[in-house]
Amino acid sequence: MNRFVEAVPWHLDAVLEQFSQLTGRRYAAYDYQGPADAERVLVLMGSGCETAQETLEQCNRQGERAGLLRVRLFRPLVARLLVQALPASTRAIAVLDPCKDPGAAGEPLYLDVVTAIAEQWHAVHGVGCPPPRVVGGRFGLGSKEFTPAMVMAVLEHLQLSEPLNHFSVGIGDDVTHHSLPVDVTAGGEPALAPGEVRAIVYGLGSDGTVGANKATIKIIGEDTDLFVQGYFVIDSKKSGSVTVSHLRFGPRPIRSTYLIQHPTVVACHQWSFVERLDLLEGIVPGGVFLLNSPFDASETWACLPDVLCRRIREQELRVFVIHADRVAREAGLGPRLNTVMQACFFAISGVLPREQALTRIRSSIHTRYGAKGEAVVARNLAALEASIEQLMPLDWRLLDARPIAEASADTAGPARCASPSLAGRLAPVPSFVREVIGPMLERRGDQLPVSALPCDGTWPVGTAQWEKRNIADAVPVWEPDLCVQCNKCVMVCPHAAIRAKVAAPQAFTAAPVGFALAPARDPAFAGQVFTLQVAVEDCTGCALCVAVCPARDRTRPARLAINMAPQRPLRQQARSQWDFFLQLPEVPRDRLNLRKIGQQQLQQPLFEFSGACAGCGETPYLKLASQLFGDRLLIANATGCSSIYGGNLPTTPWCANRDGRGPAWSNSLFEDNAEFGYGMRIALDQRRQMALTLLQQLASSLSAAGIPAALLSGLRDADQSDEAGIAEQRERVGLLRQRLADWLRSAPASDPQSGLEEPIRSLLQVADALVKTSVWLVGGDGWAYDIGFGGLDHVLASTSDVNALVLDTEVYANTGGQASKATPLGAVAKFAAAGKASAKKDLGLMAMTYGHVYVASVAMGARDEHTIRAFLEAESYPGPSLILAYSHCIAHGIDMAQGMAHQQLAVESGRWLLYRYDPRRAERGDNPLQLDSPAPRRSLDEAMQAEQRFRSLRDSQPERARALTSAAQVVLDRRWALFRTLAACGASAR
Ligand code: SF4
Ligand code: SF4
Ligand code: MG
Repeated sequence: MNRFVEAVPWHLDAVLEQFSQLTGRRYAAYDYQGPADAERVLVLMGSGCETAQETLEQCNRQGERAGLLRVRLFRPLVARLLVQALPASTRAIAVLDPCKDPGAAGEPLYLDVVTAIAEQWHAVHGVGCPPPRVVGGRFGLGSKEFTPAMVMAVLEHLQLSEPLNHFSVGIGDDVTHHSLPVDVTAGGEPALAPGEVRAIVYGLGSDGTVGANKATIKIIGEDTDLFVQGYFVIDSKKSGSVTVSHLRFGPRPIRSTYLIQHPTVVACHQWSFVERLDLLEGIVPGGVFLLNSPFDASETWACLPDVLCRRIREQELRVFVIHADRVAREAGLGPRLNTVMQACFFAISGVLPREQALTRIRSSIHTRYGAKGEAVVARNLAALEASIEQLMPLDWRLLDARPIAEASADTAGPARCASPSLAGRLAPVPSFVREVIGPMLERRGDQLPVSALPCDGTWPVGTAQWEKRNIADAVPVWEPDLCVQCNKCVMVCPHAAIRAKVAAPQAFTAAPVGFALAPARDPAFAGQVFTLQVAVEDCTGCALCVAVCPARDRTRPARLAINMAPQRPLRQQARSQWDFFLQLPEVPRDRLNLRKIGQQQLQQPLFEFSGACAGCGETPYLKLASQLFGDRLLIANATGCSSIYGGNLPTTPWCANRDGRGPAWSNSLFEDNAEFGYGMRIALDQRRQMALTLLQQLASSLSAAGIPAALLSGLRDADQSDEAGIAEQRERVGLLRQRLADWLRSAPASDPQSGLEEPIRSLLQVADALVKTSVWLVGGDGWAYDIGFGGLDHVLASTSDVNALVLDTEVYANTGGQASKATPLGAVAKFAAAGKASAKKDLGLMAMTYGHVYVASVAMGARDEHTIRAFLEAESYPGPSLILAYSHCIAHGIDMAQGMAHQQLAVESGRWLLYRYDPRRAERGDNPLQLDSPAPRRSLDEAMQAEQRFRSLRDSQPERARALTSAAQVVLDRRWALFRTLAACGASAR
């Protein structure tokens, strides 16, 4: 082995020599850059070297003598070569590692450099040459930036006689004080060269902004001699989050591997961002601001927040506006703004001569959309021409000079821009939300010091409510006269943004103007008032709610009981209506008939406003679980979409009820999530057992202290099979805790001699475990069918009372749509580009073979009451349960507003079966399997045609598509026959 390792550097050298002959670019295992007599040297690897080099070159031009050693061969590290690369004049070295190895003597590269110098310095540079002092530092931790100012801070630090070792840079460590102070005004981006453009573009996930910017880079990179760079800051939220593209174009090589600090161009593709982000921070004087605005130029000027207007005036910016949403819509492009904003960007940025740019965009439209057909190409070309026509300069100097009366006419425009700043909205909330979450939401989280963050990683729940993303163009508006109060809209809303309540009439006396309500129709609420309200600032405008509304105006069939209407004019009034709605009382949980959607959906959701995609098919199931099982939920969430929208800092959609109690949620890996939840169950069972044992041990003492025996037996034998039983048990536990606490405060329990204090304190700690908890293992098909399958199978094979919820999108949706074993035969996905050739794994059938596992397969869009029934049965079953929940997804290539109809089609074609397998039925002598699906009554072909993931194969490989469709039909027929036979058997089917 040794001789192979030792040979690596020489092989590398030969390869690098070959590479340099081919490309003209010369690299070495250890590359030193800088003056030959440098005294201070930075040593690092990777992309940080570019920023270090750029900064050191600037410093050296100003008379410094500092160098950079780039380490390209980390393993095997060749100490002699590394030391040979360092100038003999080196007196101080900072080794920068982009990692932190807590507990180690230093980070890996630092340790190597220290060892190399100790072993080789004198051998290489002579015994008379004093070895340099070496300190280690960390940079880029937690995805922090590494900027020129940070490089300068390290350089200055090396000048100290006693520099701090093991420092961090880029983090404000005000707890252990291991970070270097960084003067953000020092350093900075290199001065602009003539013809250089630095652009920051703000977009919304899935609006096409990032794709357009990539295309722009390609056009400029391929068609000009300019150097180009693109970096895209996207968060792990699903579509609908902020994306920030950083684009650099220029005549000289670009070494800046950090975000643009001083843009020459800022483009904002979403009007709602002007209300919550300081878009123009750092823009250079005379820069350009391009804004997608729903208003004309003068109204836009009147609506812009003060901070933006001030920056525009101070920096004397050139401003352009376009109503890009309208242009895209009129061209038939829907919400995708990429072509429109790309055209505008080229028109105003000056990167390319305008006509040359337009010619290139036209040709790139043909290349990009040619495969999608002529109509798509034509729509994009039309959008391009319209964009150039409708792009307007905003002459703010002229507008500022107008008489006041004339200007105020603008501000009386549509109930427009009246959106308080985030800081204003956060004023009444807890300090943590204001001081920590607020800056993060405003993209200033990097400035928070270490002390701002909880050291144990716990985070307040229910913080998604503070985001107020305002991303919907249109939101549902309720027509009380038409509504039949079925609450189907409430059930399907992926974001819990439309909710119903029923309350006594007097609860509405202080209702704000325009607060819509109607007499409750359900006889269970006779004499009460029903209201349906929308959180318009949290709604994503997906229209899923409208698509399921069954109530129609007979005289005007297009009018439903909810209809989409423009959001902005509604925003202000809706805000106070929503606040009023939230404070209305909840109907007590034990008074609701959970089998009726109209009543069940009055339960408060404890999962709201998540960052899931608009129209998401997964989140309605999670919201339902949060309603049904409320604060008793414990969720082990596998990594995937549900972990991202479920716990994406700084906000979390899991929230607490009025009593401050809510579900407990934690995320674990794909491969061990089932075991993670199983561990939760075992721990809870252990705590409950401890509580029961202590109750028994203390029984006589507790009775002697006046605690009624009925309370103790009630605690032990409580029937917690329904909400009423659970509420009673909660009361008992509350009473017990109170009595125990009282007792501890008085003798004789507090008398150490009695020996009771310790067991009583222990009982107080575990008493809550006497209330039934509901443990759920949650994840997608990638978890349950593939990577976590072994663990899930292991847990199902136990007799533990856990519930597994599989949000089956039939694809790895979170990572871009890779095929999983749940992907159906014939569907195109990543790694199944020619259509998946094998059938979907039948996870439900496999679980049923155990006999003791409750299994249900549901599709909310096909039968919503069936879904509720399955959730209730699974939870009440005292052993392992598995629910497979069909979840439509953007990866299916469908109109998400029709997601529930697609679910219905999947069921009606037999592609997805509805069933419940309940082992309790077998114990009663019945067949445990109930097939709840009707016989297929629509064709599989129709169901497959309806989704792009199947359809695309028909376009690209029609023969293969036909063959796979036939194979899928065979699989479907066989599966239907099997389930029908199993369901028709007697109880012996168990
Ligand atoms: Fe919910 Fe979508 Fe309806 Fe908005 S439009 S209330 S997000 S279902
Ligand atoms: Fe009313 Fe339509 Fe909602 Fe049903 S779905 S509650 S009818 S608005
Ligand atoms: Mg999935």
